[in-house]
Amino acid sequence: MQPGMVGDGFRVFHYFPGGPISQRRISPFLLLDYAAEFEFPPTEHLRGVDVHPHKGFETVTIAYKGAVEHHDSAGNHGIIYPGEVQWMTAGAGILHKEYHEREFSRQGGPFEMIQLWVNLPAKYKQELPHYQALSEDLIRKIELPNKQGVLRIIAGAWKELKGPAKTYTPINLFDIRLNKGGDLEMELDQSHNTALLVLQGQVAVNGATIPEQQMALFGNDGTVIQVHASKDSVLLLMSGEPIDEPIASYGPFVMNTQAELMEAMEEFRAGKFGSLS
Ligand code: MN
Repeated sequence: MQPGMVGDGFRVFHYFPGGPISQRRISPFLLLDYAAEFEFPPTEHLRGVDVHPHKGFETVTIAYKGAVEHHDSAGNHGIIYPGEVQWMTAGAGILHKEYHEREFSRQGGPFEMIQLWVNLPAKYKQELPHYQALSEDLIRKIELPNKQGVLRIIAGAWKELKGPAKTYTPINLFDIRLNKGGDLEMELDQSHNTALLVLQGQVAVNGATIPEQQMALFGNDGTVIQVHASKDSVLLLMSGEPIDEPIASYGPFVMNTQAELMEAMEEFRAGKFGSLS
C-alpha cells in the first residue's frame, strides 16, 4: 500500500472505503486513514489541512505521536496530544482546519495519528456540531493480567467496563497494546461490522496471521475474537452496529439521498456552515 497526502501534514495509508470495502459493508464506519509514524523536519509553517467542511457524520481523531491542533466555525480550538482522542460530530455542518501543533512543528519529530469517520443515522444528521475532547484520564485503561498489555476503551465496552465517548449508534473503539506473547479475548455482537488494524507488530487473530499495517475485516459469523501477539503490537479495534440506510456521499458530505447531498453542498456554498479563516 502506498501512502497519500491529506493536505501537506497527513501522510496517510487509506484502508477504506475502497476495493471490496464499501461504506455499506463497513457501516457505521465510513473512512479510515492511518498516518503511520513519519519523521517531519522542523518548520515554522503549520503543515495540515486548511479550512474545509464536514456534514452528516463524525470524525474521530486519535493521536499517537506528535500533536494535532484544530479550529472550527463553532468557535472551538484545541490540541490533541498522544493518548488523546477528539470525537467531532459534524452533524448539520461545520468548517474546521486541522494541522500540526505549532511547538511540534518548530521542533519536528515523529508524527502518527488515525482519522476514522463514523456515519450518523438520518435522524441525527442535523445535530448541532460539537465535539468530545477525550483526554487520557477520561479513557478507561485496563491493564491485562500478567503484563500481557493494555486495553483502552475509547467507546463502547469490554466485559462490563465502559469507555467515555457518547455515540449515536452502538460502537466499540479500543486502543490495544499487546506485549509479545500476550493474549486478548473480545466478545462482540455478531451483527456488528468489525475490523482490526495492526498499526505496529504482528498478531494472530483466531489463528490467522495479521502483519504490520494490515487490517482484518471480520465476517458477521461469530462473536469471539482471540488475539495473540507474536510481536509487541499496537492495534485498533473498530466494531459497530450497521446503519441500515442508503448512503449518498461526496468527500466531506455524507447524506442519505442525492437530493440531500446537493442541498448540503449548496448550504456550504451559501456560507451556512458559519465562517472560519
Ligand atoms: Mn476534517
